[in-house]
Amino acid sequence: MSAPDSADPRTAELAANLAAVRQRIAAAASAAGRDPAEVTLVAVTKTWPAYDVRRLASLGVTDVAENRDQEGAPKHRACDDLPLRWHFVGQLQRNKARSVASYADVVESVDRLPLVTALSRAAVELGRALDALVQVNLDPAAPAGSGRGGALPADVTGLAAAVAAAPGLRLAGLMAVAPLGEDPAAAFARLAALAADLRRDHPAAAVLSAGMSGDLEQAVAAGATHVRVGSALLGHRPPLR
Ligand SMILES: *Cc1c(COP(=O)(O)O)cnc(C)c1O
Repeated sequence: MSAPDSADPRTAELAANLAAVRQRIAAAASAAGRDPAEVTLVAVTKTWPAYDVRRLASLGVTDVAENRDQEGAPKHRACDDLPLRWHFVGQLQRNKARSVASYADVVESVDRLPLVTALSRAAVELGRALDALVQVNLDPAAPAGSGRGGALPADVTGLAAAVAAAPGLRLAGLMAVAPLGEDPAAAFARLAALAADLRRDHPAAAVLSAGMSGDLEQAVAAGATHVRVGSALLGHRPPLR
């Protein structure tokens, strides 16, 4: 595939959006007394074509994320010549663990023990080492054992220990999405406290993936090392087909 041309209007649009997002990260970092270089921008490319991934890579983006294996696997294949780190951020079924483990460098959505087992087995069989983040459900009203979109805070320590002990997986840290209807700063403060607890037992688990297009400032203020940005970079998502 030919390299993107900077005169291409979509590439120019992405370049402008990227500059604006980098500016927001820099401003938030400086307001928090942090070095902006501590914050990695992960471009969430779900629903957008593989050629947008190529455009973003040509503009200096190093990390991309997908949330569905059916979309992530072919997009990765179309872009596997690019020097990118691939993150998986969606709800993951056990029967997709092997496919995701074949192309993801980071699985951010590890939220239950059977998934730890499945990812570990797949990584070992494929001869890969995966970074794994424990996804935390920050919704204070989440029912115990609901398992949708993250482990409950009380379950993080045990799940993290299982990841740390699993061959083929490296416990890299925590990920969360701020719940709707709550001040993201309050939710991210709870996440930061969990991350500090985690680092006491696992000093190398330093990744804190938090913040999206609408709340990256609050996440950077709370110590996020990774922000996952979709619509502010790529535009509003086209409807799913
Ligand atoms: C889609 C998605 C994002 C990006 O959301 P935007 O609001 O478009 O920036 C971040 N994290 C996860 C887990 C997502 O599914």
